[in-house]
Amino acid sequence: MAADTERQEISVIDSSLLEFCPKDVAMMWLQATDLPKEVYKHLAYYVPKIYCTGPNPSILDDNLIVQHVLLGPLEWYLCGEDPGLGFPKLEQANKSSDLCGRVFKVGEPTYSCRDCAVDPTCVLCMDCFLGSIHQGHRYRMTTSGGGGFCDCGDAEAWRKGIHCQKHDPGMSGTAEEDPLSHLSEDMIARTYNIVAIMFKYAVDMLIWEKESELPLGLEPLDKGDTYYCMLFNDEVHTYEQVILTLKKAVNCTHKEAVGYATAVDREGRRAVRCGDYQFCEQAKSVIMRTPGRQTKPLKVQVMHSSVVAHQCFSLRLLTWLSQVIGYSDGLRRIVCQVGLQEGQEGENSSLVDTLMLNDSKLWKGARNVYHQLFMSSLLMDMKYKKLFAVRFTENYERLQNDFVNDDHDREFSVTDLSLQMFTVPSLARMLVMDHDLMSIIIRTFMDHLKCKDAHGRFQFERYTTAQAFKFRRVQSLIGDLKYILISKPPEWTDKSRQKFLEGFENFLELLKCMQGMDPVTRQVGQHIEMEPEWEAAFTLQMKLTHVISMIQEWCASDELVLIEAYKKCLNVLIQCHSGFADGEQPITLSMCGHSVDTIRYCVSQEKVSIHLPVSRLLAGLHALLSKTEVAYKYPELLPLSELSPPMLIEHPLRCLVLSAQVHAGMWRRNGFSLVNQVYYYHNVKCRVEMFDKDLTMLQAGASMMDPNHFLMILLSRFELYQLFSIPEYGKKFAAEAANKDIVQQNNILIEEMLHLIIMIVGERFVPGVGQVSAADEIEREIIHQLCIRPMAHSELVKTLPEDENKETGMENVIERVASFKKPGLTGKGLYVLKPDCAKRFSLYFHHYSRAEQSKAEEGQRKLKRQNSSDTALPPPVPPPFCTLFASLVNILQSDVLLSILRTVLQWALEPNSYAWSESMLQRVLHLIGMALQEENQQMEINYEENGESFNFTQKVSRPGDAPENSPSILTMLETLQNTPSLEAHKEMIKWILKTFNTIKKLRERSPTSPLTEMDRNLMEENCTFKDKVERKRKAEIARLRREKIMAQMSEMQRHFINENKELFQQTLEEPDTSTSLLTDASSAVSNAALVALGPDQTKVTEKRQVVICILCQEEQDIKVDTRAMVLSSFVQRSTVMSKNRKRIIQDPENYDPLFMHPDLAYGTHTGSCGHTMHAQCWQRYFEAVLLKEQRRQHRTRGHTSYDVEHGEFLCPLCECISNAVVPLVPSPRILFSSDSQNSSEHSSLSRWLRSVSQLITSLHIFHEKNNKSDNQLANSPESKDVQLPDNFKTDINFKSIYSDSIKEMLTIFGLVVYKVGLKVNPNEQDPRVPILCWGTCAYTIQSIEQTLVDEDKPLFSHLPCRQEDCLASLTRFSAAHWTVSPLPVVQKHFVRLLAALVPDEKAEKSPCILDIDMFHLLVSLILAFPAVHCQDILGFSVHTGDLYLFHLVTMAHIVQILLTSLPEENTMDQEISSTEEEVAVAALYNILRRHTKSALKERSSGWHLWHNLKAGILPFLRCSALFFHYLSGVPPPAELRVHGPNHFEHLCRYLSLPTNLIDLFRINSDATDPLIQRWCTITEIDSYLKNENIAISYPRELNRLIELPNDYSALINQASAFLCPKSGDKSRTPTLCLVCGATLCSQSYCCQTKLEGDDAGEDVGACTAHSFICGAGVGIFLRVRECQILLLAGKTKGCFYPPPYLDDYGETDQGLRRGNPLHLCRERYKKLEKLWQQHSITEEIGHAQEANQTLAGIDWQQL
Ligand SMILES: [Zn+2]
Ligand SMILES: [Zn+2]
Ligand SMILES: [Zn+2]
Ligand SMILES: [Zn+2]
Ligand SMILES: [Zn+2]
Ligand SMILES: [Zn+2]
Ligand SMILES: [Zn+2]
Repeated sequence: MAADTERQEISVIDSSLLEFCPKDVAMMWLQATDLPKEVYKHLAYYVPKIYCTGPNPSILDDNLIVQHVLLGPLEWYLCGEDPGLGFPKLEQANKSSDLCGRVFKVGEPTYSCRDCAVDPTCVLCMDCFLGSIHQGHRYRMTTSGGGGFCDCGDAEAWRKGIHCQKHDPGMSGTAEEDPLSHLSEDMIARTYNIVAIMFKYAVDMLIWEKESELPLGLEPLDKGDTYYCMLFNDEVHTYEQVILTLKKAVNCTHKEAVGYATAVDREGRRAVRCGDYQFCEQAKSVIMRTPGRQTKPLKVQVMHSSVVAHQCFSLRLLTWLSQVIGYSDGLRRIVCQVGLQEGQEGENSSLVDTLMLNDSKLWKGARNVYHQLFMSSLLMDMKYKKLFAVRFTENYERLQNDFVNDDHDREFSVTDLSLQMFTVPSLARMLVMDHDLMSIIIRTFMDHLKCKDAHGRFQFERYTTAQAFKFRRVQSLIGDLKYILISKPPEWTDKSRQKFLEGFENFLELLKCMQGMDPVTRQVGQHIEMEPEWEAAFTLQMKLTHVISMIQEWCASDELVLIEAYKKCLNVLIQCHSGFADGEQPITLSMCGHSVDTIRYCVSQEKVSIHLPVSRLLAGLHALLSKTEVAYKYPELLPLSELSPPMLIEHPLRCLVLSAQVHAGMWRRNGFSLVNQVYYYHNVKCRVEMFDKDLTMLQAGASMMDPNHFLMILLSRFELYQLFSIPEYGKKFAAEAANKDIVQQNNILIEEMLHLIIMIVGERFVPGVGQVSAADEIEREIIHQLCIRPMAHSELVKTLPEDENKETGMENVIERVASFKKPGLTGKGLYVLKPDCAKRFSLYFHHYSRAEQSKAEEGQRKLKRQNSSDTALPPPVPPPFCTLFASLVNILQSDVLLSILRTVLQWALEPNSYAWSESMLQRVLHLIGMALQEENQQMEINYEENGESFNFTQKVSRPGDAPENSPSILTMLETLQNTPSLEAHKEMIKWILKTFNTIKKLRERSPTSPLTEMDRNLMEENCTFKDKVERKRKAEIARLRREKIMAQMSEMQRHFINENKELFQQTLEEPDTSTSLLTDASSAVSNAALVALGPDQTKVTEKRQVVICILCQEEQDIKVDTRAMVLSSFVQRSTVMSKNRKRIIQDPENYDPLFMHPDLAYGTHTGSCGHTMHAQCWQRYFEAVLLKEQRRQHRTRGHTSYDVEHGEFLCPLCECISNAVVPLVPSPRILFSSDSQNSSEHSSLSRWLRSVSQLITSLHIFHEKNNKSDNQLANSPESKDVQLPDNFKTDINFKSIYSDSIKEMLTIFGLVVYKVGLKVNPNEQDPRVPILCWGTCAYTIQSIEQTLVDEDKPLFSHLPCRQEDCLASLTRFSAAHWTVSPLPVVQKHFVRLLAALVPDEKAEKSPCILDIDMFHLLVSLILAFPAVHCQDILGFSVHTGDLYLFHLVTMAHIVQILLTSLPEENTMDQEISSTEEEVAVAALYNILRRHTKSALKERSSGWHLWHNLKAGILPFLRCSALFFHYLSGVPPPAELRVHGPNHFEHLCRYLSLPTNLIDLFRINSDATDPLIQRWCTITEIDSYLKNENIAISYPRELNRLIELPNDYSALINQASAFLCPKSGDKSRTPTLCLVCGATLCSQSYCCQTKLEGDDAGEDVGACTAHSFICGAGVGIFLRVRECQILLLAGKTKGCFYPPPYLDDYGETDQGLRRGNPLHLCRERYKKLEKLWQQHSITEEIGHAQEANQTLAGIDWQQL
């Protein structure tokens, strides 16, 4: 109704407005003295007339009238002539832009080049990318979230390849020129005038807040009482809440409410009611009243229609401006100028400022429109971009505050434009240097985080929900900070240094508030009651990680800045620690004759914080300083003297001890929040600016301290000082401590402490700490990851820290350390460590978790064993330290460390002391190893000095002091070597002793005869050479051994697979080796004689067949009179072979399935896993499943992978989804083979036809009689006249030969096929049950035959056992089914079927032969025939019937093929000499032409016809061969089991056909001539031949999934252009049907529908709805944005499946998270296609759901 009235109104207006002349108005304006007044008058009159007419004010957008009446005059005025001529002129005069600037739509693909983009926000649109040099680079692809534009042509965005081909300015026009120079003075003046008026009008209207008044000059003459009730969007209320409210408030239907809600969400506002003021107010108050859990009500406003009208036009106007400036850079510049011109109110009053400052007050639609205008104007004009950026910066704080207080997403906020300016290096630098941008951002950010504790630290746990919400929004500021730090200044000036350092100071203020935040205290006794909030602090830390790193890079680029920054940072750190020793008592520690003053502090008792950003920044700066030249040459110039090393190390050390104590389990009562914090502290996302820096700080501090002092403080903080300082304390402790937990804790603490010492001395791969480069660092990281196991590219990337550009630097080094292994059909490509890199493995690599460490250790030992070397894993030779850190090595030979080592070794030597662990020993041995490596290296470097400064060997050879004359470390090691319980460490000790001796020898030689340079070199060379030869030999041996092992393994694997493949099968096959019921062909009869049907059918005797029940394990014979055995199976409707997806069964209750159309639109497919059971056992099993399911549904509401209500269950053995069981029966034609075969059999087709026709006539009479005897026998006199022939068996006490059990199963399975095939309720009485049974037999055979052809496999081999079993039992079941159906029903079907080929006046009208699938007809005829035949005693045998029926159908098929065969394309290459077949087929064709009155095209080539015929009929013959094989049990000849020549001839012989098929017609010409004539003269044929109907031609090709493009981005691009068919909007989840190629709007409200014929059911999503039409309930989709395959079956089942697209590393990218270029993997797509062709989608889903229970919980039907 509403829509109708609307349209009427419009048409009324139309006529009056169309007479309007835009030109006249424009001319009048040109003369006007007060232009603004005139224009306003025009708008005041027309805008409300056009825009305020219906219930939906925006409906007229883009209307012709708007263009004509409102925009037309503007354009005329602007151009001064017809805009149709003016604009093209402007466009021509304009220099084509070398900026692309294309604004991205949601979902559009964007490309960034990892090699050339200045930062990852620099992107190209697809067109530009394809025309750029970056195609061949390492690029990344993402889908745009909307907004943002293409950076093609922006010199600041790209290091190389700035322009694509299209935007290449070439040689000319590089110089800046004034864009206004292309415009005439007049034009400039006019444009300026009109733009100034219109821009201001639009801005005034958009920010207009009064509800029923208008600005001066716009008040309408006649102001009616029409109002709108306008509902505004917010991000607080859900869709459902809004819909519910609207239904109540404006009394609309659900559908309308959904429409309103969608529009509100999309546009930001929508009129939900139109009428007089009262009427609208009423709705408003209801909406406002509607209670919700939110404190905030929905925003709603009653507005006068004229206000709304002007606002709508304003939006149109801004869009128009965006369009117009596209014609000319000059126009663009004028718009920019007008926009930025200061207004009357002075500062911040320009139109652009006004819009920005009102941003958060505007509704979404308005924001979008003006943002678009900004992007196409201000951001496209280099001069004004700069000016705009300044305005933006000046307003920055207010804009951000507005944004934070608003609730819309950032993409709808003007603050989102920061990306477009701040990422431009020159702009960013200008803003930082001249406008304090860095400080502004940081201060604005800090202002929003107000809640602080007494020390001025952030306190996130005190945050209210509102503050937490704010905190989330304010994080985007960190993004802005990141943008401006992306490009470092190319050169520093005094001013830039000063400005940066100012910003740096502000940044330090921020970090200062974080230093020490969220402190924790160890909980003893009681567990904490509530987990404290910790995520906010970590979020902040994580977001800042890159900023901190980038600031360090800025500092590093200038020595002066670095030193200043260092000083400032140190200052702030000292401030943080001003109360360093507050309350903490000073104590003195002493050990081994050394003593140090420190404080008493226990991590386990006092407050400790994991957040130390100031310390860590200083650590980073320290390492950077260490890299500078100053540090080498004049370290005294550095501000190092101000440092207090103990202060530096204090907090980082506490943090590391905390982590150790958490590992030791001492903080269990503090709950998970602490565990999580420690986890993130080490995690790859945070560790760079947390754990790593703490370690660096300890290294820095320790390098400036006496190592003994350092170690004593270390011991003290670990709370282990007493254990190691007081002799025998350890022993006492062990003996006394009854609490095993405490001992265990202490052991772990000692292990952790030793590990820390290893790291402090050993970790030298940070540039500045050790003499390494960044590449060395990453290389080492990769080596250690790959030591754990080979990894895929993405897995490896995840273990490496990413920089702000999301780069790990891995690509540069990976080739050096790893080799790539390509993936197979599943799985991913892997990187494997190169063997020579294994020696760089360090067992105590600082980034290993304990689990990773033990995995890596195990792997490396295994590798060593395989290479037949010793399994010791000594520390690798480390790179040397940088100067500032060089003294760290002294820790290794310090007295305190030696004492610690000695103590641990002592414990290991003492039996019965359990206060130690093997891990401890292992770490001690590692430390000793490190010391030896160090000494060895020192001697090589400083050999003149003779390594005097480092003499570890001497120290370990000395006996200990306390107790007196205790053995030396060396002696202890020698003893340990022979301790049987320490077998595992033997190799390492051996290595230590060996190395020790080598060094000792070197030392002994050196004092007397120092090696000359030559000696040394010689020695080294010898050594290395010998080493090399030896290594090579060993490697060779190892390789050979490996190969042998591999060969053995793969052999074993093959066996295993084969065995297991057989495993299930065996249960079925035993004791026979073949499932076939028959004796093997070759042994029984000679191949030549094998005939599958007819009177000449080869006689076979059935072999005893025994199967085993998988449930009770009993054996069972397959006989007619035994307990039934059944085969687990799955029946489904299928459209896999459909040639016409548009055909839908409209009314299943009245659908007649007797004749299958050749388009095979719908079929019923039966598949099976091949597992057999007793029918009884199965029934019991199914009842149990039912019961279990009922109980389960009481408990949980979730789905399972199967639906018992639809009779589904899982095969008890293989868990394959099933919904039926096929009864196993013996081959039916063997049962009939006892029929006598007398000589009269070899009669003609015509005789047989006559006999059958007689029989049918008798049947008609018989049935009529029977009917009447029931009803009104007396009233029918004529029936008495007709006599039944003698040979008609009226007295058919027909008795089924099958046992009751078998009969029951025949009925049950028949019903399932009927129910599933037609999607109806089961009805035993329905006459269509037998038809469906024959249909599924025919359909399944056809389907399998097609896949065999596709796979190029011979007919009778390679059929998987499960398919073979399925086909055999299905055929035999279908053949036996008539025995449980009412005889008259089957007979009636037979009569109708036969009438399609042989005319029968009494039968109903049958379809024309082009509308019948001949194989379906054949199967039905053959299987129905026994029901007729059983009433005929004197006639022919069933076998004769089979033969003639087969011949008849074959002939019909031949005619069908000839009628539909396509004319030859090239008649040139026909052969001249014609064979007998070619002549015959040409003759037949001519007969057909005669019958069709030459409607059939003339065909000259007999060769071609014969060729077509053979190709066309082959699938039918092959299907028939399969069918008769299973029906009769006659084995196929050997020739049909292999590929070979004369396949066709063998097939014909097996099927009892002449090889010249046309002979069929010749032999039986008396019978066939009239038939042919009849077939060809039916009227339907005519319409086919005249191409009014498109006939199916033969052979039908196997359906394939749609072609997919090689490059995935083509798909994304395609999908981004897709609009939802219902709402006309961008679809959020565009999804591609891989079966038919349709794109759908999935997972969205707008496209939910009800299924056809299921009006009561729930709404389903677009995919589910489509799958029911396109795939009979089965669907295969590609979710384009997610790059994920979606499989659906029915309404409740579904799963995701890996996509067939791989990146260069052989990995899929589900969810498109990584963005590497993706290319189609044809093999994987083929695999998916096969899954579909073989009807295995449902099965696949079932398995996936069983494997992953969460899949069952997903509401698949919503997709
Ligand atoms: Zn572009
Ligand atoms: Zn371009
Ligand atoms: Zn590039
Ligand atoms: Zn059983
Ligand atoms: Zn099974
Ligand atoms: Zn489809
Ligand atoms: Zn939609």
